[in-house]
Amino acid sequence: MKSAAFRFLAVLLAGLLSASYVSLAQGQRDSLFTVHVVQRGENLFRIALQYNLFAEQVATANGITDSNSIVVGQRLIIPLSTAAWDGQLEHTVSAGETLASIAAAYSRTEAELLSLNSLESAAAIYVGQELVIVPGETEPDPSMNTIPSTEAETGAEIQPLSASETLSDGGNALSRYGDPVEPFLYTVRSGDTLFEIALRYNQTVDAITRENNLLDPGLLRVGQQLIIPGIQLPRLAQDLPDIVESFAIDPQVLETGRSVRIELRTSEPASVSGEFLGQALHVIEREDARRHNFIVGVPMVTDTAIYPVTLQLQIGAGAAVEIAANLQVVGGGYGYQTITINNNELLAPAVEEAEIERITEQMSGFTPDRYWVNSLSLPAAAAMNAVFGTMRSYNGGEYNRYHRGVDFAGAPGTSVLAASDGTVVMVDRLHIRGNTTIIDHGWGVYTLYAHQRETLVQLGDVVASGQVIGTVGSTGRSTGPHLHWEVWLNGVNVDPLQWVQEVFP
Ligand SMILES: [Zn+2]
Repeated sequence: MKSAAFRFLAVLLAGLLSASYVSLAQGQRDSLFTVHVVQRGENLFRIALQYNLFAEQVATANGITDSNSIVVGQRLIIPLSTAAWDGQLEHTVSAGETLASIAAAYSRTEAELLSLNSLESAAAIYVGQELVIVPGETEPDPSMNTIPSTEAETGAEIQPLSASETLSDGGNALSRYGDPVEPFLYTVRSGDTLFEIALRYNQTVDAITRENNLLDPGLLRVGQQLIIPGIQLPRLAQDLPDIVESFAIDPQVLETGRSVRIELRTSEPASVSGEFLGQALHVIEREDARRHNFIVGVPMVTDTAIYPVTLQLQIGAGAAVEIAANLQVVGGGYGYQTITINNNELLAPAVEEAEIERITEQMSGFTPDRYWVNSLSLPAAAAMNAVFGTMRSYNGGEYNRYHRGVDFAGAPGTSVLAASDGTVVMVDRLHIRGNTTIIDHGWGVYTLYAHQRETLVQLGDVVASGQVIGTVGSTGRSTGPHLHWEVWLNGVNVDPLQWVQEVFP
């Protein structure tokens, strides 16, 4: 009786143990994370989108209660769901990387990466693309259990480079671009213990304690960052001429109607020119021609596709070197709107085309000095009631126009303010925009203020940020008193709010 009861208990215990083992194994898979460093211009929604998550999931994983509280440089835990995680390793292509350099960084061949990613040629890769480096596992990989040969262990015979040797070689070659292997950081959350963290990443408490020089492993504080040994973030595999210290594109995936920063840093003075979407780019040279910036607007009419950006680098009298990167352009995700206008004459395409042509010409200049600092400020102390980019249908017609600016619902007579320092380059009464002022802020950046009741500045006036330049009205094609505000960059009409929320270049 006693023995039977004992046997029953033992079976029950074994059952419980195996059940808990299974759930633990699943728990480990559920708990895999990656770390995302917040970049300029990102918000929780966009970050979540990149990982196929909802913003709430990222917020929960990081104990964030106010989604507006995230800051540039902040490290966010990105939970990888069981469904997404199957052991697949991916690398996100950065500017300056080639299939060859990425293959070398991970000890793979170009042919392997071409086949894994169903690519036709190495030239097809683009910035921001996620390349599969190691495919997801459907069954255990037998090579994982390969026992090293005696020769390899003793080192008695000359062996071809092992994977780890090739890897460290690649690391050395790339070290001038920064540490090729960033440590994986885990940010401690409320209720975490070192034991649980260790378990989650298949590590020992000892290993994490040593790696982080922890005096008391029992004492963790919320927000503390721990290096988790044995986990590596994707490395950078730029393959660029020696003179190039860095090549960055921000954001990596371009959106129609939005502005992108391209920066090239060189160890010696150089002259750089560039081309994108069939247009010559205006370079901004700084730091004795060692820092070369481009701020580029992606036209609203650009099709979703991959486009090359090419930069020509000239050092002294030597031959020019070309650097290229493929950039992905996607739609900006703007909405639709219907509008009713009483004066049908103002809807004549010819009237609109003539006005756009004149404005585009005015906005295509490039003043080599910059008058704005960091970002633009809002042009009126009034509620915003229409955003940029919305596709519009007038009087039941087609959605063939988009909203070229941002609207502020100011009462008639409300002050219109200069968004930054600059020079007034146009004051005129236009058919559609009514009383309009244009300010040149330098480096190809212009702002436009439309439908004003009165304009208070003259052509050629130098204005300061926040200066009153006019008042809100309803002149031109307007459904009521409001300020319509546009931002143009090198002749391209762009989303003004990006210029309020982000720092350029
Ligand atoms: Zn408007």
